[in-house]
Amino acid sequence: MTGTAGTAGTVTNWARTITYTARGFHRPHTLDALAALVAGSARVRVLGSGHSFNRIADPGPDGVLLSTAGLPPVIEVDTAARTVRVSGGVRYAELARAVHAHGLALPNMASLPHISVAGSVATGTHGSGVGNGPLASAVREVELVVADGSTVTIGRGDARFDGAVTSLGALGVVRALTLALEPAYEVEQHVFTELPLEGLDFAAVAAAGYSVSLFTDWREPGFRQVWVKRRTDQPPVRFPWAAPAKTPLHPVPGMPAGNCTGQLGVPGPWHERLPHFRAEFTPSSGEEIQSEYLLPRPAAMDALSAVDGIRSTVAGVLQTCEVRTVAADAQWLSPAHGRDSVALHFTWVRDEAAVLPVVRRLEEALAPFAPRPHWGKVYEIPSAVVRGRYTRLAAFRALARSLDPAGKFTNAFVRDLLDD
Ligand SMILES: Cc1cc2nc3c(=O)[nH]c(=O)nc-3n(C[C@H](O)[C@H](O)[C@H](O)COP(=O)(O)OP(=O)(O)OC[C@H]3O[C@@H](n4cnc5c(N)ncnc54)[C@H](O)[C@@H]3O)c2cc1C
Repeated sequence: MTGTAGTAGTVTNWARTITYTARGFHRPHTLDALAALVAGSARVRVLGSGHSFNRIADPGPDGVLLSTAGLPPVIEVDTAARTVRVSGGVRYAELARAVHAHGLALPNMASLPHISVAGSVATGTHGSGVGNGPLASAVREVELVVADGSTVTIGRGDARFDGAVTSLGALGVVRALTLALEPAYEVEQHVFTELPLEGLDFAAVAAAGYSVSLFTDWREPGFRQVWVKRRTDQPPVRFPWAAPAKTPLHPVPGMPAGNCTGQLGVPGPWHERLPHFRAEFTPSSGEEIQSEYLLPRPAAMDALSAVDGIRSTVAGVLQTCEVRTVAADAQWLSPAHGRDSVALHFTWVRDEAAVLPVVRRLEEALAPFAPRPHWGKVYEIPSAVVRGRYTRLAAFRALARSLDPAGKFTNAFVRDLLDD
C-alpha cells in the first residue's frame, strides 16, 4: 500500500491493480481520533494491509478510506486462557512471533504472513488442511467501532457472532479481535513433484498431512508440486504417489526458493512452515492478479477435470494454480460456510484485459459446482448468483442494518451483495 493521509488518489492495493477512490485517506494514531473520524463521516471503508485484488475496500468517491496501520499495535497474550487479544491492523507475522514467544500457536496460517488479521478474517482468508477451518474460525470475540463511534463487543455465544467476523468490513471498524491459541508445535514441510491427475485419489492426497497444497501451471494435466506440511506430533508422511523434491522449490515457476519457508522435511516452528512465503520477502510473484473459488469437497475431482478441459486457455495467462482444502465454517458469509470445501486458486499474470475473459471461461466451467468466490480476489460471477449461494445472507443483512442503519460502512461492492 502506498500513500499518505489526505491523498486517497495515490493509495493502491498491494498488487497495484486498484487505486482507491475516496474523498480522503486517514491514518489515525489514537482510538479516540478513529472514533471521532467514524462518527463524523458519512461513508467509511477500512483498509487493512491492502492485499485484496478487487474494490472490496474502496469507499468510492464520496467516502473516506481509513487505515488502521497508524494505531498503536496491541498483542495481549493470556497464557492461562490460551488466547490473544490483537488489534485489527496487526499482521500475522508480528502476531505469530509474539504468540510463539509465549509457547503458543495459531491453528493455521494463510500462504503469506504479511496480511492484517482484521482484513484477513473479514474476507474468509484460509490456509489448507482437511480439518482446518478458515482463519476466522480461531476468533472468539470481535470489538467493533460502529457508526456512532462507540464500541460494540460480540463474542461466541452471542446470536450475532456468526455474522460478525467474516463481515466484509460492513459492520464497523474492527479495533481488536480475541483468538484462541494452542500449545506451540513444530511442522516439517515435504514437497513432492509431478503428481498425475489421472487416477488421483484427491481425498487421500489432501489428507496426507496437516496442511496440503497442490500446485500446477496447467500446461500438462496433473500437479507440478505438492506441499505437505506435517505437524511433528502427528504420524509420518506416507506419499506413495510422487517423488520427493531434491531441492527447495518456489510454487511460481522462475521465482527464487529462498523466498519460501523451509522445506526438505526440516522441522521448524509452526509460523515458519505453515505460510509458504517468508515474512521478509515479497510473497508469491508480486506481479499478479488472483482469483479463487471454494466448492463442495466431494466435487473436487469433477471440478479439476473441468479445469483440465480448458487447460490451454487457463495456462495462457496463469502463473500458478493452487488447490487446497478448507473445513466447513459457521460464519454466515464465509465462502466455506456449511460445507467442507476444496479451494481452487489462480495466480494470473498482471494483465486484466487478458485475464478477465479467462476468468469468465473458468467460471463457466466451474458453474455446475456452485463455487463461492474468495471475497478478496477477482471474480466475474454476477452478484445475484453469488447471493443465491449464501443461505444466511438475510441474517447478515439484518445484522448490518442493526449496527449500521444508515449504511455508513457500505460501498458499491457491499451494496451489490446486500441490496435486495
Ligand atoms: C500474495 C498474496 C497471497 C495471498 N494468499 C492467500 C491465502 O493463502 N489464502 C487466502 O484465503 N487469501 C490469500 N490472499 C488474499 C488475502 O488474504 C485477502 O485479500 C485478505 O483480505 C487480505 O487482508 P488485508 O488486511 O490485506 O485486507 P484488505 O485488502 O486491506 O481489506 C479486505 C477487507 O477487509 C476490510 N478490513 C480490513 N481491515 C479492517 C478493519 N480493521 N475493520 C473492518 N474492516 C476491515 C476491508 O474494508 C476490506 O473489505 C492472498 C493475497 C496476496 C496478495
